[in-house]
Amino acid sequence: MSALSELCQQIVACRKCETLSRYRTHVVPGEGAEDAGIMFIGEAPGWNEDQQGRPFVGQAGMYLEQLLASINLRRDQVYITNVIKCRPPENREPLPHEIQNCRPWLERQIEVMHPKVIVTLGRYSMALFFPNKSISKIHGTAQKRDNIVYYAMYHPAAALHQQSLRQTIEADMLKIPSILAQMEAVPEAKQQPQQLNMFEV
Ligand code: URA
Repeated sequence: MSALSELCQQIVACRKCETLSRYRTHVVPGEGAEDAGIMFIGEAPGWNEDQQGRPFVGQAGMYLEQLLASINLRRDQVYITNVIKCRPPENREPLPHEIQNCRPWLERQIEVMHPKVIVTLGRYSMALFFPNKSISKIHGTAQKRDNIVYYAMYHPAAALHQQSLRQTIEADMLKIPSILAQMEAVPEAKQQPQQLNMFEV
């Protein structure tokens, strides 16, 4: 069994959050290509994800798949996970202590997978890697730290609910191939001519 599968088994057995572990149907550790150079991190599982134990399988997931297809990637060529691995009851927002409890799992996933590019989807995921930033300011920009590029995007669900964000998220997605090419990650990703606002800290 791979180190990542072993880690996912440990995540599935986690009971650190009393409420989340009481109400969940399935834990949703994440899935995708273990050697993917790119990891997408969403917020938390919703109803569909909780039912299936898989990330991004509802409407937002279908839209994420379309966004990936726009850069010639399928979901099985990337790794997809969330900030927290259990569905909050009634799809409420994750609480600070739940994010804290779950953070070591995400950190271990990153350590084991060592992706070259991490794409944050939405503000909870962004907040872990770009503290005190605002998504409206930094979406579509990348920051390189310790040889990982962090790239912030709006959450696909936000773009589904707010038509005005659709063009933005679609344009931001189209910048990813040039980041992948720069980092020599996912060589089959098709390079598209896009400007990239990359900055070092
Ligand atoms: N939204 C998320 O943030 N994650 C999922 O897995 C599904 C919807």
